[in-house]
This record gives sequence, C-alpha cells and structure tokens, in this order.
Amino acid sequence: MTMTTEAPPRPRQLVNGGDPDAPYFLPLDELFNGAYFAASDLDGMATALLEAYELDLQPHRTFDVAYLWKQKGGTRDGKAVLGKCVLVRGLLAHFCPARFIIWLAADHLRDAKASRYLVEAILYHEMLHVGEDEDGEPVLIPHEFTGFAAELRRYGAYTHDLRVAHQAFEQMPLFELDPLTAARELRVELDNLTPDA
Ligand SMILES: [Zn+2]
Repeated sequence: MTMTTEAPPRPRQLVNGGDPDAPYFLPLDELFNGAYFAASDLDGMATALLEAYELDLQPHRTFDVAYLWKQKGGTRDGKAVLGKCVLVRGLLAHFCPARFIIWLAADHLRDAKASRYLVEAILYHEMLHVGEDEDGEPVLIPHEFTGFAAELRRYGAYTHDLRVAHQAFEQMPLFELDPLTAARELRVELDNLTPDA
C-alpha cells in the first residue's frame, strides 16, 4: 500500500519545540545492558510525530512499535547504519508484544554530533517503514526511490519512483543552516531492511 500525501514545506522546527540545532543527548555507553536500551525519549518523540503527521503514519494506529537505542549500529557496504525498522515475526514474536521494533544507532549519531533535528528526521524515516497490507497484516514499506545521482543528471527522472523523488526534492525546504552537515560527511546508510535485527 502506498500513499502520497502532499506535505507542505514546514519551517525547520522540532515536533516537540526547542532548538533544532542543539546536540541530541544520546545515551551513554554505560547505560546499555547489552546491545539495546529502551528509548523512552524516542517513544515520546514518536507520539508527537504521530499527532503532527497522522496521515503519513496511519499504520501506527494499528500496530505497537517498540523504540530502542542500539549501542553500535554497525555498517553495511562500508557505510554506517543509523537506524532500522524491524518487522517482528517468528521466534521474536513469541517474546515481543510489539509488531515492529525501531532502533537508532547511538554510536554513529554520537560520531555525527547529531542534532535534535537529525535524530527526529531519522526517527520519522524509520516510522515511515511501518505499514499495513490489504489483509490488515503488518508489512515493512520499502523505500520509494533508489538510484544514482549520475543517472538523474544524465537522464532525468525517467521512472515513476524517480519522478516522486524529483517532486519531493523540488518541494524540499532549503534552510539557511544545513542541519545535516555532520551526517553528510559520514558515509551513511539510513537503514537496511533485511529481516534480522
Ligand atoms: Zn529506510
């Protein structure tokens, strides 16, 4: 199921208010009891995002989502993985009441000197992966576009997915100060959608 919503460009502000450029207070290493840490801060932010962008995030009304910090995000193809949305199934479903788990990588976000704005943007991205199929079953929504900058430069937005991306880039708000600079200097992969956690 795909849904297109015309989101108007918004001023660069946090869903919970405050300074978007302020550094995010990331959990310290010693708080992790193993690899994961229950993220009440992300849970609260997710609730606010649901209220603010209800149309984008409708499947969240149906399914429970657990929010975690992961101590080490790991890498994929040499790029830091910043977060992930996992569909809970199989053995994991026996132990976990939530249907989805979203985690963000504390180590990479610390390395990126992540702002509150960056953390909110990544959380929103992961929340968009939560989906519901025609039978009401939980599904992971794949990314809407993938591609190379070079192909766009040479051939333009020649597929539906790329046209969707192109439209979004055209409507993208341009901010005076680029809040994602630190993250852009890293070679990052927002996430990967393989079934393992
Ligand atoms: Zn993603």
